Amino acid sequence: MTDLDALDVIVVGGGGAGLAAAVSAAEQGAQVLLFESERELGGSTQLSAGLFTAAGTSVQRGLGVEDTAERYFQHYMDLNQWLLKPGLIRAFCTAAGPTLEWLLDLGLDVPAAISPDAHTPGLCRAGVEDVWRGHVPRDQGYGLVQVLDRARRERGVQAVLDTRVERLLFEDGRVTGVVADGIEVRAGAVVVASGGFAQDPGLLDRYYPAAREAGDSLFVVAAPGSRGDHLAFAEQTGSSLAGHGWGLMLPTAYFQRHHHWQAGFPPKSRVYVNFAGRRFMDEDASYAVSGGLILAQDGPVWAVFDEKARLALPTGYTDWTPARVAEEARAGRTLRAGSLAGLAAAMDVPDDALTATVARWNAQLAADGTDPEFLREESLAAKGSPGAPDPIATGPFYAARVLPAELVCTHTGLEIDHEAAVLDRTGAVIPGLFAAGEAGGGVLGMRYVGGGNAVANALTLGRVAGRTAAGAR
Ligand SMILES: Cc1cc2nc3c(=O)[nH]c(=O)nc-3n(C[C@H](O)[C@H](O)[C@H](O)COP(=O)(O)OP(=O)(O)OC[C@H]3O[C@@H](n4cnc5c(N)ncnc54)[C@H](O)[C@@H]3O)c2cc1C
Repeated sequence: MTDLDALDVIVVGGGGAGLAAAVSAAEQGAQVLLFESERELGGSTQLSAGLFTAAGTSVQRGLGVEDTAERYFQHYMDLNQWLLKPGLIRAFCTAAGPTLEWLLDLGLDVPAAISPDAHTPGLCRAGVEDVWRGHVPRDQGYGLVQVLDRARRERGVQAVLDTRVERLLFEDGRVTGVVADGIEVRAGAVVVASGGFAQDPGLLDRYYPAAREAGDSLFVVAAPGSRGDHLAFAEQTGSSLAGHGWGLMLPTAYFQRHHHWQAGFPPKSRVYVNFAGRRFMDEDASYAVSGGLILAQDGPVWAVFDEKARLALPTGYTDWTPARVAEEARAGRTLRAGSLAGLAAAMDVPDDALTATVARWNAQLAADGTDPEFLREESLAAKGSPGAPDPIATGPFYAARVLPAELVCTHTGLEIDHEAAVLDRTGAVIPGLFAAGEAGGGVLGMRYVGGGNAVANALTLGRVAGRTAAGAR
């Protein structure tokens, strides 16, 4: 039983960041106690694919992939237009590889094998980087949490479940503990790892209003505990925030209500068309950039496909099935027409442009497998789906709105430095306070850097926070 009078570190939240912090603090010899608001550990991390972006790893070397933390840093900063603090990002990019190795030593299994997607263990193309960095663990996010939880138990760290930390103890400018279930518990340092705020509409309005622009199509896949308690802790302690206005929204069809694993996938033979009736992107582009590409269009974006593609959709999913698409079309929510000209009229786009767009598709990717404008053949090959898609030629034709509407994670958190120490509004460290994961702000930026940015952030900064917090005794 943990001695509550001799605690060095309290961890708030038992997802990826919290578990990594608890294990790493315990490795330093600290007495650690972890509070988790839900009945089980894991948070969003447990629901995730576990995809972890890291550079210079043994997995990459096993596949002959040459990579360095410096190259990762350059890509990370460029994709985020240098809006993030280089010192923090260099520390993150440098620590991500060793954190993955730490997890492998703890028992995580990421085989040195090429993976076509976020389900198959191995190394996959995760974003728009020039070298593959997406590490997919066996059993995905669940596997990650299991490995960390076993390490936690082996190191004697007690996890108190079903206990939501209400506030921090903040005395004489220093964080000295927490209040949970009305009880004060003191420690030398507190690591806030309580995840994001995707489940709180009011906080979304305030800190990530772009998410609300999806209107009725918005659906949240983040864990129920993502209530944004870190933002209340920030107000209480005068912490500065970073990452305002940023988060990750995945593009989906307007009628989707689940992540693709349950919802199913749109037809391979489809084009995304903008207000001008033109294609404007690789339809299989990484979600590191696809949401931004869609939002950059002046008006709605449509997935256009034909009857043959609808009928070829597999059954057994919740959303992208032949029956569901037909139902949406019957209700008039998905547009349907016997000809492309008729579909263009329903979409309110120029019919000559739509007809030319589809004709080009049929003459290029659907004919010889090349897409000179958008290079979609490269994304399809990386996904393990080579070969030309079918032409779009068999009426009736369909158009379904596509928009970023699946809210995965939020990026506004307590501003941290390179050691995961929380800063106040003057930029000074708040003694005794550390943050990591979605609750820590500054690493997750305006652009998602490959599938695996958020898990890498949670585990890497969680590990850093645990180690520094243990040293703060
Ligand atoms: C379906 C899905 C798939 C994803 N796939 C990927 C992926 O493959 N790769 C990637 O990089 N990112 C992915 N993400 C995002 C990524 O999983 C998260 O950003 C990351 O895991 C967050 O880790 P965390 O530790 O900050 O938060 P969480 O894992 O959510 O943990 C926070 C924990 O704190 C608890 N908590 C909250 N408030 C309190 C409180 N007051 N007191 C005590 N406990 C509290 C919560 O219940 C929760 O358990 C995915 C997310 C989802 C939802």
